Amino acid sequence: MRALRLPGWKSEPELVEVAEPTAGPGQVVVRIGGAGACHSDLHLMHDFDAGAVPWNPPFTLGHENAGWVHDLGAGVTGLEVGQPVAVYGAWGCGSCDRCRVGVDPYCENPAAAPVPGGGGGLGLDGGMAEYELVPDARHVVPLPDGLDPLHAAPLTDAGLTPYHAIRRSWHKLAPGSTAVVIGVGGLGHVGVQILKATTAARVIAVDTRPEALKLAEEYGADLTLRSGEETAQEIRGATPGGRGADVVLDFVGADATLRLGAAAARTLGDLTIVGIAGGTLPVSFFSVPYEVSIQTTYWGSRPELIEVLDLGARGLVRPKTTTFPLDQAVDAYRRLRDGSVEGRAVIVP
Ligand code: NAD
Ligand code: ZN
Repeated sequence: MRALRLPGWKSEPELVEVAEPTAGPGQVVVRIGGAGACHSDLHLMHDFDAGAVPWNPPFTLGHENAGWVHDLGAGVTGLEVGQPVAVYGAWGCGSCDRCRVGVDPYCENPAAAPVPGGGGGLGLDGGMAEYELVPDARHVVPLPDGLDPLHAAPLTDAGLTPYHAIRRSWHKLAPGSTAVVIGVGGLGHVGVQILKATTAARVIAVDTRPEALKLAEEYGADLTLRSGEETAQEIRGATPGGRGADVVLDFVGADATLRLGAAAARTLGDLTIVGIAGGTLPVSFFSVPYEVSIQTTYWGSRPELIEVLDLGARGLVRPKTTTFPLDQAVDAYRRLRDGSVEGRAVIVP
């Protein structure tokens, strides 16, 4: 079968012929119906060096996958060949406290995980291929009725990651509150929808690209702002008494956006860093409003994935997809880098 592989750090991916996987005991092979192209993959190709994460190329890209069960290994029960499924992408050890409650991204025994701190497409072979081997059937989540693999695929990361970040701040998103989404790309445009579907907050979307702001408006953002020097003041100006935003979600994570988030936050607010552009924010007691919580988030839990898939099946959250065949996957990443993808680029092999 064909697979899009990352051959090494600081290198471009290559479409190559590899052996088709078969399912060993407890494993599942999924026929891929959609594999999302995440900006994190661009960081892998261009920004990371050996040692940045506890695993290394080569491996098949694609950590955002859904499709149909193709091959069931011995001992796997509760799944049927042909059944539509999503792949929960973070693969922890399965037996530490974190994995037992379904938060594999925070596995505390990475040495016993199939890949330390990663998953398919992040150290092990992922879904940018005709088939993906999932090494433990617990990572295969049946799709609810009404959700197809193409739209389910982005929900496993571009949906799950913002959902986890937003859920963590739900108690601060009461009626009358304001949430800011910085960066309305693959994650951010789903983030806007999740805020609208699960909270009563007024949503302000910020991006450098007018097309991204148009997308945010389509999905119900109450106000959209071009990112610039004045944006923090504009956000404050749009909140009662100029008090600022209760929750800022930074889906970029650059110096400028972190600075913007800190300047736009309200006292007791949350500034949540999701984007991994490598920016830093110097913090001291007086540099942010009182009791602003500054936090990072990484991916989400298996129970949260089930909740996100439910939002997807009910049409409350629907990723905007731009599809590419596998032989145009390199082009999809080029367009993601250029900022010319609408919503999420999804490879359909
Ligand atoms: P994307 O390229 O689809 O979207 C990024 C958006 O940010 C684009 O719309 C772009 O125009 C906008 N942007 C860039 N610079 C900006 C600025 N200065 N001000 C405002 N907007 C700006 O990327 P994506 O796939 O949505 O990923 C977003 C980030 O999240 C990446 O850094 C990615 O690696 C990271 N990520 C983190 C996690 C996690 O678990 N923490 C998971 C997935 C992705
Ligand atoms: Zn674990």
